[in-house]
Amino acid sequence: MFDKILIANRGEIALRVIRACREMGIQSVAVHSTADADAMHVRMADESVCIGPAPSSASYLSMPAIISACEITGAQAIHPGYGFLSENAAFVQMLEDHGITFIGPRAEHIRIMGDKITAKDTMKNLGVPCVPGSDGGVDDVDQARSVAARIGYPVIIKATAGGGGRGMKVAQDAKGLEVAFRTARAEAKAAFGNADVYMEKYLQRPRHIEIQVFGDGKGRAVHLGERDCSLQRRHQKVLEEAPGPVITTEERAHIGKVCADAVARIGYAGAGTIEFLYEDGAFYFIEMNTRLQVEHPVTEAIFGVDLVRQQILVAAGADMEFRQEDLSIRGHSIEVRINAEKVPGFSPCPGRITQYHAPGGLGVRMDSALYDGYSIPPYYDSLIGKLIVHGRDRAEALARLDRALGELIVDGIDTTVPLFTALLQEPDILAGNYSIHWLERWLDQKFG
Ligand code: ADP
Repeated sequence: MFDKILIANRGEIALRVIRACREMGIQSVAVHSTADADAMHVRMADESVCIGPAPSSASYLSMPAIISACEITGAQAIHPGYGFLSENAAFVQMLEDHGITFIGPRAEHIRIMGDKITAKDTMKNLGVPCVPGSDGGVDDVDQARSVAARIGYPVIIKATAGGGGRGMKVAQDAKGLEVAFRTARAEAKAAFGNADVYMEKYLQRPRHIEIQVFGDGKGRAVHLGERDCSLQRRHQKVLEEAPGPVITTEERAHIGKVCADAVARIGYAGAGTIEFLYEDGAFYFIEMNTRLQVEHPVTEAIFGVDLVRQQILVAAGADMEFRQEDLSIRGHSIEVRINAEKVPGFSPCPGRITQYHAPGGLGVRMDSALYDGYSIPPYYDSLIGKLIVHGRDRAEALARLDRALGELIVDGIDTTVPLFTALLQEPDILAGNYSIHWLERWLDQKFG
């Protein structure tokens, strides 16, 4: 087992990993930019190293700075969290060359899944159902027209290097195709430096259902059911729950096994998430994330497992602590993402926290790096906390969420808390009756 792990991240996810390290008797090293000198992850870790100035390109994304921090502190492994370098195959390769263990899958698997065309192709060959679409990339408008004629409108044009909901354009009909195609390519080029796009049938009212998988890197893998992440704004998740309100036990067992078998066959190591759109009882693969997800705590809640601990164990060459038959679901869990944003425009509003009080009590988990007097720097993601509740069933989880939101105090800045308070008044939310378009429509109706 490792003696010391460096966490190449900040905020709540850095705390999450530090906590797992501490419970396992492993020393933790925080890295930080100059803007984060007073951040909670720096205070909580056993050691810390400043790796550069505020912009993440010069700090949290600086591979040489992070590797130097490992060498200075003697850390044997790096946990990347999510975002930043977590899905960067070149980084994983570089760590290998330096004899540092990456807590995550092999570079090869990150590379395959990081290119969405290759990912889809690979998954299709592994027997995972995919959204009907182009075979590979689409290079020009004529080709786009013929693919659309085959799969039918509406279609969505997506960046093969995509992520974070960027570089995606929908064409409702043949008239809109050319503009959608050109805009998607331009956006993809600007955001990812790669203009390659592919096409899929645009599903009208799907849910976003993702399957948590976990591989030991030696050909054994399990699944930990699904999360429903359909409540999205601009293709970004806002609220997640597990189990999914409309997924049956049979559907879970079936798609879960398909996913676990697929990752077992490629010898995948560590945590991964296979994302699907789900409509009329059918699952359609859209992408795989080769890292821990923001919303992993809802899975931890209902299965009673520590996913970060398992990641560390597997990276150290040990076995996972469970087999498929050991895993069963208890109750229902919901997570809401608390962002430093003003509702309804969702403009970021960093600033100083004058008062912070985290909710508590039975079935409540608050993952946040906030504290009284903390100044949220303007340079990074606006996620400032995740409130996760667990109840015996969905109704109890909803009541608990309502209660916990009432206890939470974040003064000094605007947050997305009022959004969740309002959502808990909506019959559709209470009934679990929503697709990926529900939230945008609701925001339009409510705020115009
Ligand atoms: P990203 O990597 O940018 O997050 P994804 O492929 O995971 O991109 O898609 C993000 C979201 O975009 C999905 O959760 C869904 O809301 C929407 N989306 C993607 N593909 C389709 C599709 N074929 N039909 C309808 N919506 C889609």
